[in-house]
Amino acid sequence: MVKSIVISCIFCLIFLGGIILFFGQTNYVRHDRKLSVVCTTGIVADAVKNVGGDLVDVYALMGPGVDPHVYHARESDVQRLVSADIIFYNGLHLEGKMGQLFDRMSQQVPVCAVTDGIDRSLLRQSQFAGAYDPHVWFDVTLWMDCVKKIRDCLIHRDPVHTKEYSKNTELFLKKLQELDASIREKVALLPKNHRVLITAHDAFSYFGRAYGFDIISLQGISTDSEVGVGDIMRVVDYIVAHGVPAIFVEASIPQRNVEAVQNAVRAQGKKVILGPTLYADALGEVGTIQETYLGMVRSVVESIVATLQGKDGV
Ligand code: ZN
Repeated sequence: MVKSIVISCIFCLIFLGGIILFFGQTNYVRHDRKLSVVCTTGIVADAVKNVGGDLVDVYALMGPGVDPHVYHARESDVQRLVSADIIFYNGLHLEGKMGQLFDRMSQQVPVCAVTDGIDRSLLRQSQFAGAYDPHVWFDVTLWMDCVKKIRDCLIHRDPVHTKEYSKNTELFLKKLQELDASIREKVALLPKNHRVLITAHDAFSYFGRAYGFDIISLQGISTDSEVGVGDIMRVVDYIVAHGVPAIFVEASIPQRNVEAVQNAVRAQGKKVILGPTLYADALGEVGTIQETYLGMVRSVVESIVATLQGKDGV
């Protein structure tokens, strides 16, 4: 009798231990609830929503119009990150102030830098030694590589749903391919000598390389520096010398520097208009066409092409 009780207890302990081990491990994902995903930018969150579909609950730390280069994590952000099943961020120092936080987080929560999906030989150097330009999403083909990376990270975290993540990815990649083709069609409407894009900061260098634009910007890759008089005069001289008709304001950056260029051009007896606001590093408000990546890129391209078509008339 005593012997059988002891044996039963041993079995009970083994069973309980197994349960604790199974449910206690950090990698376990329950299949009856959505995967809780925290992303930094809205652009990354948009891609994760497309790949994850109904299987994920996605939260973006940075809302519409928020500049990722200078964003500091709040206490509430840290809480969200710690309790996530997986974290996605852009990487390549886009989230300049959060890099160390992700290093720390990676010991507790799986962390995925979406730009790790891009072959390093396809990246552009930034003005900082040894660093790359993080604005890869403006070359749609590079963004497709990031989407594949998101798929791989989700599958690694939640392998039970491999089939669903793969299927969602295929559908989204098809839409991205169509977007890339439509950009090329629209840009082809613009004479080659009209393809000069002047913006507040250097977010469009991949766009320029992919779709054949010269890119001039007031600020470098990051917005985390002051624009000097020299920067403004360099751009003013270019506009006056080449008769560029428009400069573009960006949604997440104050207008004052672009307006200073406009005033200086005017002081030289020339005219340059402010083009429509471009969404460069953030998506638009909910309910606008720019609330998704597809809509945001389409609207940027339409704004650029429509504005620069007026070159001869200015
Ligand atoms: Zn930027």
